[in-house]
Amino acid sequence: MIVAEKVNKSFGKLHVLKDVSLTVQQGEVVVIIGPSGSGKSTFLRCLNYLEPIDNGYITVDGQPVGKRRLPNGRLVDDSRKNLYRLRSRIGMVFQRFNLFPHQTALQNVMEGPITVSRIPVSEAKARAEALLAKVGLADKAQAYPVQLSGGQQQRVAIARALAMQPKVMLFDEPTSALDPELVGEVLEVIKDLARDGMTMVVVTHEMGFAREVADRVVFMDEGSILEDTTPQNIFTRPGHPRTREFLSKIL
Ligand code: ADP
Ligand code: MG
Repeated sequence: MIVAEKVNKSFGKLHVLKDVSLTVQQGEVVVIIGPSGSGKSTFLRCLNYLEPIDNGYITVDGQPVGKRRLPNGRLVDDSRKNLYRLRSRIGMVFQRFNLFPHQTALQNVMEGPITVSRIPVSEAKARAEALLAKVGLADKAQAYPVQLSGGQQQRVAIARALAMQPKVMLFDEPTSALDPELVGEVLEVIKDLARDGMTMVVVTHEMGFAREVADRVVFMDEGSILEDTTPQNIFTRPGHPRTREFLSKIL
């Protein structure tokens, strides 16, 4: 579902991603861990073409993200033209729940399918109601973001991403901005998605979640993937000294 090969990305002189390669099969849940500044967010943003890559190769569901090679060998970047098709395959949830403040939960979830996918309002409403029920917020459909807790807002943000019927979901520290008592309800929703077979890449510091849900855990440090293995392996016998050092700080 996702193939990234030797992805490189710099901001000016800062080389943020160094030959990052990662493959995610359909239905797999991959958790990315690593110190702050190691390039985790940048990598997720590259997968969604929020950041163009400098070189390397990414495909999502078979479609190139960024440059692709024509039969004559020339490289072209037509991702911008195909951005709608690309983005509709990939749902992304950020640390900060960026809901539209002037819209109700229901309107937030309906917005994308109506304005981007141009599906009929009645259908978008039915889909949004079903998704709010799925994330446990059927009774909050008419609430505005300010009337919701952080955990509830984040669950609306997940429903909103799902409304576009993505094939892949990317989560960038989805619980880091939440009060501790609200973390569990959001992780439960993500676990449900995993059980449904959604392909997901999750950047998180929640090691209990990683242990329970991840098929693989990837450790990133200073722009490189140093380890890509099972949760069992990484937590019981981390292969790299830097993984050990990182885990000893957060566990
Ligand atoms: P992480 O998510 O692992 O904490 P990031 O991907 O956010 O790491 O950042 C990796 C590095 O890239 C950091 O040094 C950060 O300051 C830098 N960086 C991220 N985005 C930008 C940007 N748009 N412009 C310049 N530097 C950036
Ligand atoms: Mg980050």
